[in-house]
Amino acid sequence: MFYTEKEKKIELIEGYDVIVVGSGPSGIAAAIKSSESGCKTLLIEKCGAVGGISTTGMMSHFTGNVRSNLYERILKNAGEKNVFKGYASRVTIDPEMLKNTYYEMLSKAGTELLLYTFVCDVITEDNRVCGVITESKSGRRAYKAKIIIDCSGDGDVAFFAGAEYFKGREEDGKMQPATLMFKVGGVDTDRAVFPGSFETEVETEKGELQSLAKKILPYPAGHVLLYKSTIPGTVTCNMTNCVDVDGTKAEDLTRAETVCRSQMEPIVEFLREYAPGYEKCYITGAASLIGIRETRHFKGLKTINETDIAEARFFDDWVVRDAYFNFDVHNLTGSGLDKTGSQKKFTQKKGYTIPYGCLVPVKTDGLLLSGRNISGTHMAHSNFRAMPICVAIGEAAGAAASIAVKKNIQPREVNVAEIQNLL
Ligand SMILES: Cc1cc2nc3c(=O)[nH]c(=O)nc-3n(C[C@H](O)[C@H](O)[C@H](O)COP(=O)(O)OP(=O)(O)OC[C@H]3O[C@@H](n4cnc5c(N)ncnc54)[C@H](O)[C@@H]3O)c2cc1C
Repeated sequence: MFYTEKEKKIELIEGYDVIVVGSGPSGIAAAIKSSESGCKTLLIEKCGAVGGISTTGMMSHFTGNVRSNLYERILKNAGEKNVFKGYASRVTIDPEMLKNTYYEMLSKAGTELLLYTFVCDVITEDNRVCGVITESKSGRRAYKAKIIIDCSGDGDVAFFAGAEYFKGREEDGKMQPATLMFKVGGVDTDRAVFPGSFETEVETEKGELQSLAKKILPYPAGHVLLYKSTIPGTVTCNMTNCVDVDGTKAEDLTRAETVCRSQMEPIVEFLREYAPGYEKCYITGAASLIGIRETRHFKGLKTINETDIAEARFFDDWVVRDAYFNFDVHNLTGSGLDKTGSQKKFTQKKGYTIPYGCLVPVKTDGLLLSGRNISGTHMAHSNFRAMPICVAIGEAAGAAASIAVKKNIQPREVNVAEIQNLL
């Protein structure tokens, strides 16, 4: 059954050079870079805070590495807010302080920010995206800009514009599982264990922790990933797990949230019983944004694949350099690492590059892809989805947009050497 909406006039707001949709690590970077490059930039975010998975998703830490000026600035500024100096590493995240860091950096750069606003459609002319339609408390509105950067993670803007994509794994469309991050307090951090990867085994008096978790936790939970937070006594848990979730469907998001929530208390009971240092732990908070790892992969002028990464291929038309991480594929049908994933076994230490073409949708003009929705294979995505790399992608997208705006050209016409000069 279908219902035809009545046609109606909505308010149109014009005059922006660049609109960035989504304020995750890539959106923050894209908006700051675009603003600092002199473009009138609007950042639109559906949540009530900036940062996406890095903050609202209650993320533990930045993993992997990359050469990026903005990433260094974010780490430095966030680190200065850390009350317990020297306790956690510089990549450990305090979500509230990181939000404040982002607000300050956006404000200093002169980015206009619009929270609580969902981008629900695009305005197109011929094959060019020239604006977005939003829904919010203010009603339905239209915003126009010269360039739109899609940092929504799921690539909602590119999807609404009809850009070519596939979901998840090439052979069957399966996507990485979802996780609701949460924190526990009351941990004796001097004695506590911090298994930071699926392959970190912890022997205890009662048995090996990962094996115990697999047996005891409610399926598909079953692995132990615990990370120091910036606050002694508080630990970030990346342990809830829901498989077969399509993060572009509200029903699946609701199921993921419900399933992950139902696992939180059994996980805490497990930790109290089996994990040294966690005997008196209790839940202090959970993310207000479910963690979706993978959804749409768009087709760009270029597509990065796993061989490019494993062999650290150097693209002359790079816009991201010295990107480093492993193939972090979570088990698509249960807990732990997927058999296609490679963490400890990933030995390539030399960083790889991402070419500009991965950010440019193959047919749609006026639009740049950024963050985890750029053009890449399922396996490559398991690597470049790491937040430092997403920051660097966003920085490149912001730089490319600013050149396109100044020269009044399309993203596909931008000279990559000019982007490189801005990075
Ligand atoms: C559970 C989990 C654990 C992870 N662990 C780590 C880790 O330890 N270290 C690490 O480096 N990386 C980790 N990652 C990966 C990393 O967090 C993401 O890949 C990264 O945040 C992607 O950045 P992004 O900017 O592309 O998108 P996101 O961070 O997903 O941000 C997208 C933003 O767009 C907004 N948005 C979406 N659609 C719309 C719309 N239609 N209108 C308006 N706004 C919209 C969202 O609300 C969100 O704020 C993890 C991911 C998950 C899910």
